[in-house]
Amino acid sequence: SKYSKEDIFRIVEEEDVEFIRLQFTDIFGMMKNVAITKNMLPKALDNRCMFDGSSIEGFIRSEESDMYLYPDLDTFEIFPWRPQQGKVARLICDVYNPDQAPFEGDPRFVLKKVLKKAHDMGFVFQAGPECEFFLFHTDEEGRPTTHTHETASYFDVAPIDQAENVRRDMVISLEEMGFMIEASHHEISPGQHEIDFQYAEGIVTADNIMTFRLAVKSIAKRHGLHATFMPKPKAGVNGSGMHINMSLSDLNGNNMFKDDEDEQGLSKTAYSFIAGILHHMKGMTILTNPLVNSYKRLVPGYDAPVYIAWSAKANRSPLIRIPSSRGSSTRIELRCPDSAVNPYLALAACLAAGLDGIEKGMTPPESVDSNVFAMPEEEILSRGIEQLPETLGEAIEAFRKDEFMKKVLGEHIFTKYLEAKEAEWHMFRAQVTDWEVEEYLYKY
Ligand code: GLN
Ligand code: MG
Ligand code: MG
Ligand code: MG
Repeated sequence: SKYSKEDIFRIVEEEDVEFIRLQFTDIFGMMKNVAITKNMLPKALDNRCMFDGSSIEGFIRSEESDMYLYPDLDTFEIFPWRPQQGKVARLICDVYNPDQAPFEGDPRFVLKKVLKKAHDMGFVFQAGPECEFFLFHTDEEGRPTTHTHETASYFDVAPIDQAENVRRDMVISLEEMGFMIEASHHEISPGQHEIDFQYAEGIVTADNIMTFRLAVKSIAKRHGLHATFMPKPKAGVNGSGMHINMSLSDLNGNNMFKDDEDEQGLSKTAYSFIAGILHHMKGMTILTNPLVNSYKRLVPGYDAPVYIAWSAKANRSPLIRIPSSRGSSTRIELRCPDSAVNPYLALAACLAAGLDGIEKGMTPPESVDSNVFAMPEEEILSRGIEQLPETLGEAIEAFRKDEFMKKVLGEHIFTKYLEAKEAEWHMFRAQVTDWEVEEYLYKY
């Protein structure tokens, strides 16, 4: 590993760190933290810091509520956007029960379990997300709005792009925190942006996604803006996705998805991985697209997938696309996920589904290399191309039946997640939206 306890104590002294945030993620993908001062660091690094698990949504256990935080030393980073005298650092933690067993409700533990399984099969899982988000103005009271006075679109330059300095600060801060930023640009919708960071092993990428959201929101706030990862904040323009690029390497780092002999340059392992994801997609859509609002993004016409299909061509309408780079960067791109996900659970589900495809030797259906949105209904039907769930309600039904996902997540998270999503869906169903009032009030 990168750091020893002594390294951490030394860096804390050298860098004038005063506070350390002990972070973890609840099952709904919300970051949680408790701040300690450097005086308490020895206790924290001895895994003796405790919190009340019953106060975290989805964590509750009836028997006892004391839970312990086990800091992952390698995740030590300093927040560049906090004061630089008496600095603030963070450690991402695993959550443990008082009996020193990992807490089965900790999403990081779920991902670690699937990564271990991959490792036992001889694979290392690499993932790289493409995070999109909106920057909106806040009102006089500081509350977020959905207003932007930007008109820029994909790859536009300043002064049409008004956020170049905001993205610049984000990129610099992220790099100070150890990120390798590959690209940043204005996205298609007014006020929408994308920053891409380098792929890494599964757990690092999930941690990075959590850190990324915090950094982007914190830096936007310093510019008087609100950054949102809400999947579809505005009707009529593209929503924000979080495409996930995935590949497997062997334990020596050789890409296992490439095969130069193959017509598409893909290995049997890659085909089976794709097949596994397609096979399990409906049951795990709730993990890649977790909100009522997620399904407002997954509609035709906004560069987001609707059909469960894959393509090795430049076609962007399917759910899984194979980016054109081959060789050591051979990978698949899953296009449905959005940034409202719990990244630990989403990556765990994708990897488990792909590995299942490999274990069972699945083969994917024929690739769909033309635009599915332009295909006649009969052809879609005759080719057996299915759709992603259209609503959170449909996603819940598919998830409820899915014994495989239950095994991946474990009983605790599966049950808590299902209960919470059902409650969310019932709440939404009882709402009367502005659209309905506008559309019906006068006419009927
Ligand atoms: N914003 C689109 C989505 O919802 C993606 C657009 C793009 O990156 N080409 O997935
Ligand atoms: Mg992109
Ligand atoms: Mg994009
Ligand atoms: Mg992409």
